[in-house]
Amino acid sequence: MESMRGNGKQLVVIGGGAAGFFCAVNAARQNPSLNVTLLEKTSKLLSKVKISGGGRCNVTHHCFDISEMIRKYPRGANFLKKAFHQFFTTDTIRWFEERGVALKAEADGRMFPVTDSSGTIIDCLMNEVNPHHVEIIMNAEVRSIRKESATFLVELAHQRMVTSDIVCIACGGYNKSATFEWIRELGHKIEAPVPSLFTFNIPGHPITHLMGVTVPDTRVKIVGSKLAERGPVLITHWGLSGPAVLRLSAWGARELAVCSWQFAIVINWLPDFNENSLKERFQHLRIESASQKIINKNAVGLPQRLWQFLGEQSGVLENMRWADLPIKVQNQFIRNLVNYELVIKGKTTFKEEFVTAGGVLLNEIDVNTMQSKIVPGLYFAGEVMNVDGITGGFNFQHAWTSGWISAKAIAQSF
Ligand SMILES: Cc1cc2nc3c(=O)[nH]c(=O)nc-3n(C[C@H](O)[C@H](O)[C@H](O)COP(=O)(O)OP(=O)(O)OC[C@H]3O[C@@H](n4cnc5c(N)ncnc54)[C@H](O)[C@@H]3O)c2cc1C
Repeated sequence: MESMRGNGKQLVVIGGGAAGFFCAVNAARQNPSLNVTLLEKTSKLLSKVKISGGGRCNVTHHCFDISEMIRKYPRGANFLKKAFHQFFTTDTIRWFEERGVALKAEADGRMFPVTDSSGTIIDCLMNEVNPHHVEIIMNAEVRSIRKESATFLVELAHQRMVTSDIVCIACGGYNKSATFEWIRELGHKIEAPVPSLFTFNIPGHPITHLMGVTVPDTRVKIVGSKLAERGPVLITHWGLSGPAVLRLSAWGARELAVCSWQFAIVINWLPDFNENSLKERFQHLRIESASQKIINKNAVGLPQRLWQFLGEQSGVLENMRWADLPIKVQNQFIRNLVNYELVIKGKTTFKEEFVTAGGVLLNEIDVNTMQSKIVPGLYFAGEVMNVDGITGGFNFQHAWTSGWISAKAIAQSF
């Protein structure tokens, strides 16, 4: 049994990520009599903070309206609606600012440290460790937790054991259901994990020859479901990416896992048009541009390479002029522009920001404290809970919010 310091109450935080750090340093600061120990499985701390946002760390999102913010979380929105009343984006910005870290917003709302370096966030969190006497133990993988009367027995790999009065589990998301077993053994139920935030594969499809083309405004719909997203799409050498696709992958994470990521989508490359309104536009083009070659110059604001590709796929010949466009070819071209069907065969995890959907069921956690409703003295923070957001800083905001709420509740519980 490893001995812990001091005579005060012990808090063991499991996981050295954003949520675990936020819980540990805030609890220690708010209640100096607490002895806080953070256990990290690996030999690295804050590893996701380091790589996130391409090494810049997308700390939060420039959104100051809770009802708007919660629309960015496919799972956990109602839970967060309450949690954000305690600690929101404004509090995150202030927390870092008070410690000398200014954040800036980009045009799409993502917020980064002004230094554009995740190292700034890591240093800021690490600087809180010593003044508040948080002990960090690395290479300390928790294998099981038991509670005997009021004491938690936390069993680590290599037959090590620590005891604690309070435990906060902030171990992040796991991609295999079996890895959650030690949490299930405490009596908690787990929503099975599935990947979220992935891109769509269309192996061998000719459209992949347009890799690198970005279409700024599209509407992508998953056939046979209500799932649809409007926004930019990026054509890659293996398929489709971009915000509209990533958002769809997040909202559809469960449905798409059920069909093993084999499904059909329909893309409207011109979402301000439907078949009828585009037909009208084409009638005008036949007159206005009668003598011009159709393929040469796109007439509807699409990237030229995509316009040419969709035209060719519809049967528009290289030298065909607007006045000579056969009705059958025109109809096919219009369909391809506003109802382009693609069959998706598999997914690729989005390297920039990957999360798992699933985790500890939220109805087993008290949103006001992040305390387990099943095991008193047990708390949760971060991605281990069944909460996940789309890309843009929403996942980190959840880690800060739940880390802070658990810290406050723990600090006040003695
Ligand atoms: C490449 C990448 C980029 C990302 N970019 C962004 C972004 O820009 N913006 C955004 O909002 N989100 C981003 N995310 C998501 C975000 O990083 C996570 O949602 C967030 O880190 C979750 O924090 P957490 O503390 O709950 O879990 P984690 O950061 O996963 O930390 C959990 C820690 O617990 C440890 N652990 C696990 N099991 C045990 C155990 N049994 N015993 C002891 N320790 C254990 C792990 O080793 C890990 O260090 C990104 C994710 C990835 C993978």
